[in-house]
Amino acid sequence: MSARGTVYLVGAGPGDPGLITRRGLEILRTADVIVYDRLASSELLLEARAEARLVYVGKSPERHALSQEEINHLLAEEALAGLSVCRLKGGDPFVFGRGGEEADHLHAQGVPFVVVPGVTSAVAAPAYAGIPVTDRRAASSFAVVTGHEGAGKSERSVNWAALAQAADTLVVLMGMQSLRENVQALVEAGRAPTTPAAVVEWGTTGRQRAAYADLARIADEVAAQGLGHPAILVVGEVVGLHERLAWFARGPLSGRRVLVTRPRHQASALAELLRAQGAEPVIASVLRVEPAEVAPARLRALMAQQWEWVLFTSANGVACFREQLLKAGLDGRALAGARLGAIGPGTAAALREAGLHVDFVPSRAIAESLGDELPDIASGARVLLPRAAEARDVLPARIAARGGEVEVLTVYRTVPDEQGLGLLRAALAEGDIDIVTCTSSSAVRTLVEAIGVEVARRYPVACIGPITAATAREYGLTVRVEAAEYTLPGLMAALQQWAVAQTEGSKT
Ligand code: SAH
Repeated sequence: MSARGTVYLVGAGPGDPGLITRRGLEILRTADVIVYDRLASSELLLEARAEARLVYVGKSPERHALSQEEINHLLAEEALAGLSVCRLKGGDPFVFGRGGEEADHLHAQGVPFVVVPGVTSAVAAPAYAGIPVTDRRAASSFAVVTGHEGAGKSERSVNWAALAQAADTLVVLMGMQSLRENVQALVEAGRAPTTPAAVVEWGTTGRQRAAYADLARIADEVAAQGLGHPAILVVGEVVGLHERLAWFARGPLSGRRVLVTRPRHQASALAELLRAQGAEPVIASVLRVEPAEVAPARLRALMAQQWEWVLFTSANGVACFREQLLKAGLDGRALAGARLGAIGPGTAAALREAGLHVDFVPSRAIAESLGDELPDIASGARVLLPRAAEARDVLPARIAARGGEVEVLTVYRTVPDEQGLGLLRAALAEGDIDIVTCTSSSAVRTLVEAIGVEVARRYPVACIGPITAATAREYGLTVRVEAAEYTLPGLMAALQQWAVAQTEGSKT
């Protein structure tokens, strides 16, 4: 747990969100305020409490990045106001992260602080590229240095001449802009031009790319491959080991930044699927599920009645209905006399997890199919439908057309997720999104409302099914991918086909 009035300088790790420490995650999950700048693993921010305030202090189109003094001031101010503050930094906070300066300021202000080290890119990016920074056979020392990227940095300058000879392996951070000069300085200082070298871009993430060449040719190789920031340079005999040790495979979606617009608690499942295929998921939870209050007396009265079917059209509906049952002093036994239907496999899985047997799932995961295919809808058959406030009328209408009697029970509504919207704007400002995934019509609507239709039209979209795609087209968005099977695995399969076609297209 994080303590009030304390600042935690937390290392977020190099990019793969799995590389944050347990302690770091604990702080992130309990902090009142999270202060972050550009992170390779922005999805970590979804771990924040819904009430937490997220403060982006990096550069954005709307405003300049906060200066270091302003950041120092902000950290102290929030902690002195009695809040627990998580200062989240890429990699390790004390490796070229200016964590030392922030801690110094806090010390001067009498603000308690705690340092939670992180996995630094200096070691992790080489590791993901198959390069151990030390190896008994090839290197007994390594040095991490700054390549002085960008102007106006006030770090102490690097003594390349001494460094070239001082450590077996050299790892250069922030060195892409002056790559040629740095390499030349090393060669002039006596490092053999034939020394193996590598540049690893976006290490540990789905868009990791690496260039390998000897020192004399590495800058040309990097230029040929078009590698850029953020990247590290590794120099030394250990680089040669990558030929056998490069283990991090590129998946079919490698190099793609894919925007995920699902409610936060559901985003991670899709993000996980995307990452497994090599994509970099950018999570923008534009919607949040807000349970609706059902009067316990009304629910008890409803459940005392006889229902032919109780139908669920989302996993959220299942979860919120269960919650309402418990509040009314009921549980799954209240469904004893009814048969249960689910719109698709995800919803069915949620019911099974709740220990409930699913009697019917339609051939396609849309309301039309559920309404038309539901068996035993004789005249007067009674159907209970716990669902979202903003759901379409299709399902009740189709059942009613067949003579059934439908009672709609609103168990939740989807509302804009302000915190997630902030993250979305930051993500869009940071870089290109290759495709936007939409898993519901309401996600399309909220996305368009959040970023404006003009901005939304810049990005191709991938839709989970025809209804979502139709909504996207209504807004003039370009639907590039449409799942044949209206499930997350179906969406993943369609995305893979898209990526393969795109790669082949760019070859011709
Ligand atoms: N505190 C960070 C370093 C911050 S300086 C850490 O411990 O990793 C920023 C530099 O780190 C970048 O210019 C780049 O050289 C390097 N870097 C950060 N993340 C990286 C990544 N995922 N892949 C390659 N290099 C990375």
